[in-house]
Amino acid sequence: MEKKIAVLGSTGSIGVQSLDVAEKAGYQVKALTANRDFRKLEEQIRKFKPEMAALSDTAAAAELRLRCKDTPTRIYSGAEGVCMCASETDADTVIDSIVGLAGLRPALSVLESGKTLALANKEALVAGGYLVLEAAKKTGKKILPVDSEHSAIFQCLQGKPSNKALKKIILTASGGPFFGKTRDEIKNVTAADALKHPNWDMGAKITIDSASMFNKGLELIEAHFLFGVAPESIDILVHRESIIHSMIEYDDNSVIAQLGLPDMRIPIQYALTYPERFVSPVGELNLAEIGKLTFFEPDYEVFDCLNICREAITKGGLYPAAVNSANEEANRLFREGKIGFLDLGRLIRTAFDVTPDKKEFTLEDVFETDRLARQAVLDAV
Ligand code: MG
Repeated sequence: MEKKIAVLGSTGSIGVQSLDVAEKAGYQVKALTANRDFRKLEEQIRKFKPEMAALSDTAAAAELRLRCKDTPTRIYSGAEGVCMCASETDADTVIDSIVGLAGLRPALSVLESGKTLALANKEALVAGGYLVLEAAKKTGKKILPVDSEHSAIFQCLQGKPSNKALKKIILTASGGPFFGKTRDEIKNVTAADALKHPNWDMGAKITIDSASMFNKGLELIEAHFLFGVAPESIDILVHRESIIHSMIEYDDNSVIAQLGLPDMRIPIQYALTYPERFVSPVGELNLAEIGKLTFFEPDYEVFDCLNICREAITKGGLYPAAVNSANEEANRLFREGKIGFLDLGRLIRTAFDVTPDKKEFTLEDVFETDRLARQAVLDAV
């Protein structure tokens, strides 16, 4: 049977690549959503003919509705419109590639409506991991990781009889554009410097997160929720070539790794075709040509965002949500040239002081924490 999918955040980097995979595999695209890019979404609507589409920006949605009058696609608007596309579509798998905390509510809508969630939005799991896992448990639906590291771990875990013998997860990191630099050498870097990522081609927010390694901290938290492994059993290893996408280690010290060229179309495709595998447009890995793979310990003094994320997940509760929101705010301020690179860690840390101390929480608590953390960052600038 032909697979039916929906893509949330379809005009972003992961969204576009997801549609590329869907087109090549001949999947039906049932729903598309984006933030405000009505031009690109109109193009996608004309090409993929989804039943429904939404823009979270209401003015942009009005424009899109006018432009798509001659198509049968129903156009919705606002955060509710996006959630509507997540839950009302008759897709079997929904890819959530929305950027930031905005991806949380739609992720819950996908799971609550009984569909498989292909998750590219790591912030949903970081801020609302507990809520997302509860929703998945209730409907018995799977969360398939799209993030390359988590897809690697997921692939390494295929065929494993139980979680018992799993000793640790080794999350690999490219180290970003400032690898090997001292604090002094990076204190004056700009967003333009940070946007020169050596291996992966990504959106602006995540590229800055990669430069500060906050992204790896988010991935540590994401791995904890996805695979049920304690934070102290998740190691971070800098691997400059981005060929090994992550590894797992068993009790007998046997290590299993997943390798491939750094191209998101492999993990995206696996989330869509799972448990099957198809031919991919990504090139073959030629290890003789690459010659050598290198590994380093992360520099926790320069990249203090790693410590912040580890601290947040160890504290648990709403702390991961708080540092995630503080980072979204600090990341934006850095991209706008309003703060320096080394201010990121200092500002994100202020969120710890305002986080409500609760072990169990609701979606409203997450949004309240979001407000408090962002305000703490703005107050500290
Ligand atoms: Mg990643």
